Amino acid sequence: MTETAARIIDGKAVAAAVRAEVAARTATLGYRPGLAVVLVGDDPASAIYVRNKDRAANAVGIAARTIPLPASVAEAELLAVIARLNADASVDGILVQLPLPPQVRARAVIEAIDPAKDVDGFHPINVGRLHEGVATLVPCTPLGVMKLLAAAGVSLRGARALVLGRSSIVGKPMAALLTAADATVTVAHSRTRDLPAECRRAEVLVAAVGRAELVRGDWIANDATVIDVGINRLADGRLVGDVAYDEAAAVAGAITPVPGGVGPMTIACLLENTLRAAAARRSRPG
Ligand code: NAD
Repeated sequence: MTETAARIIDGKAVAAAVRAEVAARTATLGYRPGLAVVLVGDDPASAIYVRNKDRAANAVGIAARTIPLPASVAEAELLAVIARLNADASVDGILVQLPLPPQVRARAVIEAIDPAKDVDGFHPINVGRLHEGVATLVPCTPLGVMKLLAAAGVSLRGARALVLGRSSIVGKPMAALLTAADATVTVAHSRTRDLPAECRRAEVLVAAVGRAELVRGDWIANDATVIDVGINRLADGRLVGDVAYDEAAAVAGAITPVPGGVGPMTIACLLENTLRAAAARRSRPG
């Protein structure tokens, strides 16, 4: 194996800087922004994730609370909870942990959230604003990727960027943000004809697929910047990304590790979105 050539983009350090900035700004507000996290059912991974969000929020001066609901919850009941949170002046951000049980339509729930409190940026109004290039609440993971690219000093204007994956949570908003930053963006997905060839053209490659080590070293252009959003658990318990890290690091110019790359950015950006929602909502007249 060739020695690692790529610069490692340290998501832990960038996330810590974002959290510190949120804490500093929150301390000047004169109130604690409120974040409500709705957790349906008892999926252990979701529970851990929600607990981490709670802890991280409280550490930066955001008052976070979790609203646990049983897996059997009726859609109408969940919608009533959302309506209460929409009307609660102490709540600036509302997040519903996905996935939801089959009797609840996730779409109906997302659309019920007040767009001004939609700190996940999944409401169609916020999605539309993002695609219009209007400042809005943006999904946390792609927002985190943009911050990593900025921290690494990657120039996006005119750059050829490839987004691998077209989900509403990562791929699509990622492509919109890169386009807004003046990159020339291609979106590749499971039906793309020649994935390696598309990848090889990219100066900036963002992989958000959910397939362990799909992207090989010989798919990557010399000196490209590689951002690996994927989180995949192997049979032996190891956590790996969507990119074969060692192979990629031998050719790339810069690369994010898994774990310690994009992962820590998601919660940091959720905190930033909550602060942003609080500042915007509470400065509105009336
Ligand atoms: P998803 O399953 O909703 O979407 C995956 C996308 O990849 C789809 O658009 C699909 O077309 C594409 N795809 C699937 N198989 C493919 C293949 N063989 N070749 C090309 N494209 C293929 O997943 P998602 O929610 O976008 O998440 C993607 C990955 O990112 C997952 O590993 C997830 O765990 C991870 N993730 C990480 C964070 C974080 O905080 N770091 C946040 C969200 C998601």
